[in-house]
Amino acid sequence: MGRGRTLEEFRREFPDETRCAAFLFAQRWPEGFVCPGCGRRRAVALKSRPRLYECLDCGRQTSVTAGTVMHRSKLPLTTWFWAAHLMATHSNGMSARQLEDQLGVTYKTAWLLTQKLRRSMVDPDRDLLEGVVEVDQTEMPFRVGDTFFEPGNAGKILVAGAVEVIDRETGRSRPRRKGGKYLDTRSGRLRLALIEDNSARSLEAFVRANVKPGATLLTDGHASYPGLRDDYRHDPRVVGKMAANIVLPWTHRAFALMKRWALGTYHGLRRKHVTAYLDEFVFRYNRRFHRHVSFEKILALAAHAPPTSYRDVINRKSAPPTTSRST
Ligand SMILES: [Zn+2]
Repeated sequence: MGRGRTLEEFRREFPDETRCAAFLFAQRWPEGFVCPGCGRRRAVALKSRPRLYECLDCGRQTSVTAGTVMHRSKLPLTTWFWAAHLMATHSNGMSARQLEDQLGVTYKTAWLLTQKLRRSMVDPDRDLLEGVVEVDQTEMPFRVGDTFFEPGNAGKILVAGAVEVIDRETGRSRPRRKGGKYLDTRSGRLRLALIEDNSARSLEAFVRANVKPGATLLTDGHASYPGLRDDYRHDPRVVGKMAANIVLPWTHRAFALMKRWALGTYHGLRRKHVTAYLDEFVFRYNRRFHRHVSFEKILALAAHAPPTSYRDVINRKSAPPTTSRST
């Protein structure tokens, strides 16, 4: 777990169904197998069907993928693992089209894989941001329909962002006096979310959902957030409008990376999927210095995430584009 895998190492470690199933087994039952039927602890893996474990006491068969995003999937586990590896380790992530090429599956299959894996890129137990936190918002164009992204022919969405401000020297967040300079800092964890409008109320809801009460909030000086007054320490940075990138450097940097990524990898985001994409970006951003663990993280989370059927995905989001590259 300590370092990144090369492609060769990955293929050596997960060459077949049995090895992938063993990995999931360890994620799922870190303390050892427990039969969901009788509660006893002795089981064998079935030779012919590597995902299934049979209880030696009651004979019940339990699938290692039951209750995970891989539940009832006809795809080989090696395909899931390879997809998770690519999505976790490529610095810009993977679009369904890139995955289609890499995995040799249909576009529809690749699209569904990316959707499902992306959903396990949000840690349900993640902590709120704390300490000193920059908060800002930005406008971003989104792609309409299946057409290739054209800036002139796109709608706009509003994205709120929050980034922890960490002192380089100590690796911790240290609040200054109000109006004081934050020199020699780096960015900590990031959160992004789609917001309805640029009202104070929308941004306040975003802050409450993502930042721990008691934190110092750095925002641009034009904003006032009466709803946050009692629970947060607000330190607006009053500088000319043009200097926002100087007073809130880390949110602006994160926004710039997000926009470049959205254009470069996806040729613009679709509005209906924006939240899932933002989660993916945040997942990768927050693990940018230890990418080697994110593959395990995706699969570990996937092993605890509720199953998502194709129907779930298309009901809640929109159907995948029907156009595919014809071959
Ligand atoms: Zn049993």
